[in-house]
Amino acid sequence: MLYRWSNLRLSWDSFRAMRNRAIRAQALHTGLNVIQRAGRVRSISFHWFRTVLGLGLFASTAIHSASAFGQLPTGWKAHDWDRQRPEIVAPGASNLPLLPPSDAVVLFDGKNLDEWRASDGGPAKWVIKDQVMESVPGSGYVFTAKSFGDVQLHVEWAAPEKVQGKSQGRGNSGVFLQGMIEVQVLDSFENITYADGQAGSIYGQYPPMVNVSRKPGEWQSYDIVYRKPSFGEDGKLQQPARITVFHNGVLIQDNVRPLGPTSWLQHGNYSKGEDKRPLSFQDHGNPVRYRNVWVRELPPESIVQPEKPYDPVIVSLKPEQQSKLIGKYARTDGGLWEITEKSGKLYFSVFGTPLEMIPHSVDEFGLKYTAGKIELKYDEAGNPTDLHFHMGGDITKATRAK
Ligand code: MG
Repeated sequence: MLYRWSNLRLSWDSFRAMRNRAIRAQALHTGLNVIQRAGRVRSISFHWFRTVLGLGLFASTAIHSASAFGQLPTGWKAHDWDRQRPEIVAPGASNLPLLPPSDAVVLFDGKNLDEWRASDGGPAKWVIKDQVMESVPGSGYVFTAKSFGDVQLHVEWAAPEKVQGKSQGRGNSGVFLQGMIEVQVLDSFENITYADGQAGSIYGQYPPMVNVSRKPGEWQSYDIVYRKPSFGEDGKLQQPARITVFHNGVLIQDNVRPLGPTSWLQHGNYSKGEDKRPLSFQDHGNPVRYRNVWVRELPPESIVQPEKPYDPVIVSLKPEQQSKLIGKYARTDGGLWEITEKSGKLYFSVFGTPLEMIPHSVDEFGLKYTAGKIELKYDEAGNPTDLHFHMGGDITKATRAK
C-alpha cells in the first residue's frame, strides 16, 4: 500500500481537532504506524514528519493560549491607556505631620539618613534639605538599614513644586514593600497617565480606588498595611501578599492581592525569599521629597492562644435540679433575666441572646463562649432565690421573680 500525502493531511486535520494530550499521543503512535505500513517509509524523512508534527503542536498550543487571553488576572493588560481612571476626590484638610506612636521604628525624622542605605549597602545618596529627604536623580533607590515583613508604614511625600514632565515622568518615585511591591508615588494632580501607574497604584496592577492627590509641592501621606506572601515548605506560594493603602487619609487600596512583584511592562512571579527585607524608595529621576517616615512591625495574624486550652469542669444536673432554675430573675437595678431550657441544656438570656450555660456545680455555671460566671443561691427547699452574674469585673445581682 502506498502512502498518500492526502491521507496524512486528512489524519493531520483530525489530529488538530484532538485536544486531549492522551489522544494526541495515541494519534502520534497511530500516525507512525500508518507511515510504517505505507511501505515507502524510507522515502519520507522521519525528521520531516517530526517537523510538521512539531509545527502542528505549536499551532495547537498557540490556539489554546489565544483562548486564555480573555482570562487576564485583572481583566486588563498592564498600563492599558484605556483602563478607567479613578474618580478625583478632594482630600480633607491636612492633618500632617502625623507623628509616630511609641512602638514605631522611626525611619526618618528630618535629622539624618542613618536608617537608610544605597543599593550597595553604603551611605544613602539622597540629600536632606530643610529636614526633608530628597531623591537625587540618578543616585539610585534608598533602602532601609533594617528589614521588615508585615508592617504598618506611614510615609509623607511631596512631588516637586515646579511641574516638569508629564505622565510617568512627573514626580515619579515609589514606596517598595519587601523590596518587591511598589506603591506608586507620582504627581497625579491634573496629570494624565495610565490608571495602574498613577499615585497610589499597586504599580502596573491595581489603580487606586480614587485619585485623592494634592497639588505638587504639597505634603501628602500614605498609610500602608502590608502582609507578606506566605509559602509552603515546598516553596510554593500559599497566599499572595496583601496590601491596604490610605492616601491622604482616604482608602485607595483595600486588602488587594498583588499578582506578584511589581514591574514596568509585566509583573514578576512570587518566589520565596527572606521574610524580612528592606523597605525602599524609588529614584525615578525626579526630586521627590519625603519626611516623617515611620513603621510599625505587625504581629502574625494568628490569635495568641491561652496557655491552658478551654477545658471546663462539667457536672450533670439531675432533671429536677435543672427544671427548678428555669424562669425569670429580677435584677436589683431593674430589668429581667431569664433561664430557659432547650434540648436538655440551660440558657441564660441577658438581652435576648440565649447564652449556653455550662454547669460547674449546682451553685456555679460558666458560659460556653463568654467569660462570665453565674452564681446561684438556694433556700432550704432547694429552690433558687438569688442569681449573681459575674462579668467584666462586676457582679450584677438578681432575685427569683415570682
Ligand atoms: Mg514609581
